[in-house]
Amino acid sequence: MENLQLTEKLNKPSILDLEKEDLNKIVAESGEKPYRAEQLWRSIYKECNLDFSEITTLSKNFRNFLSTKFRIGTLEKKIHINSIDSSTTKLLFGLNDGELIESVLMRYTSDYGKKGRKTACISTQAGCALGCTFCATGQQGFRRNLTSGEIIEQVLQLQKIALKEDLLEVEQGKRKKGEIQGITNIVYMGMGEPLANYKNTIKSVKNVIDNSGINIGSRHITISTVGLVPQIKKLSKEKLQINLAISLHAPDNKTRSETMPVNKRFPIEELIDVCHYYVEQTNRRIFFEYILLEDQNDSLSNAEKLGKLLNGLHCHVNLIPVNPTTNGVYGRTDDNANRLFQGVLKRFGIPSTIRVEKGIDINAGCGQLRERVLSTN
Ligand code: SAH
Ligand code: SF4
Repeated sequence: MENLQLTEKLNKPSILDLEKEDLNKIVAESGEKPYRAEQLWRSIYKECNLDFSEITTLSKNFRNFLSTKFRIGTLEKKIHINSIDSSTTKLLFGLNDGELIESVLMRYTSDYGKKGRKTACISTQAGCALGCTFCATGQQGFRRNLTSGEIIEQVLQLQKIALKEDLLEVEQGKRKKGEIQGITNIVYMGMGEPLANYKNTIKSVKNVIDNSGINIGSRHITISTVGLVPQIKKLSKEKLQINLAISLHAPDNKTRSETMPVNKRFPIEELIDVCHYYVEQTNRRIFFEYILLEDQNDSLSNAEKLGKLLNGLHCHVNLIPVNPTTNGVYGRTDDNANRLFQGVLKRFGIPSTIRVEKGIDINAGCGQLRERVLSTN
C-alpha cells in the first residue's frame, strides 16, 4: 500500500512545468477565486514553498485539490556538500527516473555592493552528447533533456539555501531586512548543453525573470553554449536581455576540433559570423569562455590568433584555469603564463578576466560530482 502511494506520488505531474496562465485554468477548475492563481505562483516562486502543505495562505480544501493532481517538485537531494572556505555549495539531485544532475551555489563576498553576489549554476540536461574532451559531463554521454520544471527547481532549491542564510544574517544583525536578496545571478553552466534543450531552457528563463516570482533580472542571467549556430541565431530574436557565453576554448579549427567534436559541425568561421550577427541583433556583448589547457591552447601564438579572431567583435574573454577531472589529461597553465596570455589579448584591445575559481575541493566543476559518486559506487 505504501509503495502504491509512493508510485502515485511520483507519477503526478510537477506544477513547476506549468506556465502562469495554466495556473489560472487550474484555479478556475477548482472553483477558487481567480486571485488565488497569483497567490499560488508567489508562494511557490517567491517564498520557495516546495510542498503544498507549506502554503498556509491557501485553504485546506484547495491544497488538497492541488495535491491530488500535482506535486511541486521532483528533485531528490542526494548529496549536499560545502567547500572548506564555505563559498561554494554543491548539490547532487536524483530525478524521478533515477538520473543524476548537479547544481552549485557560489557566494562572492567582495563584489556586488557590500552584501555580495550569490550565483546559482544549474544543469539543463542529464549528461551531454557533445563530448568535449576536458569536460566530466561530456565524458559521461547523453542521458536526457531536463524539463523546464526540473531546471527551475534547481534554482528554487538553491534559493531556499540562499534565503535562509540571508535571514540568519538579519537575526545576527549583519544584514538589514530590506537587504534580503537570495540568489542574485544564474548561470546555465552546469551539466548539459542549454541550447540543445532550447525550448525548456527558454521557458525556464522566462519563469525566473518573472517579477512576481523568482524575479532575477535578465541581465543577471547567463546562458553558456558550446556554439550551436542555428540556436544562437534563434536566441538573438528572443528579445531577452540575457548574457550569452560561448565556449570557444581554441582560436583555430584544428586546435578546437581536437578537444571539441562539435567544431566539425560548426567550424569557427561560422561561429564567429553568428556572434557578429548576435551582437548586431541584440546590442549585447558576447562572453567567450577560454579554458587554458597546458600545451594545448595556451601558447602566446594561440593568444595572438585569438586576438585576431575576436578583433572588432563586442566581447569579453573569460580565461579559465582547467579543473582537474578524473580522466582528464590536461595540466594547468601557471599564473604567469595566464597573465602573459591576457597581455596579448590586451594588445588587441580585447578585455579579459582570469576567472576566480570556486569549489575546486568539492569537484564543483561541471559534471564532476556525479562522476565521483558513480565511480565510488
Ligand atoms: N554546454 C555548455 C554549458 C555547460 S559547460 C557549454 O559547453 O558552454 C559550462 C562551462 O564549463 C563551459 O564553458 C565548459 O567548457 C566549462 N568546462 C567544462 N569542463 C571544464 C573543466 N574541466 N575545467 C574548466 N571548465 C570546464
Ligand atoms: Fe557538453 Fe558543455 Fe561539457 Fe562540452 S563543455 S561536453 S558542451 S557540457
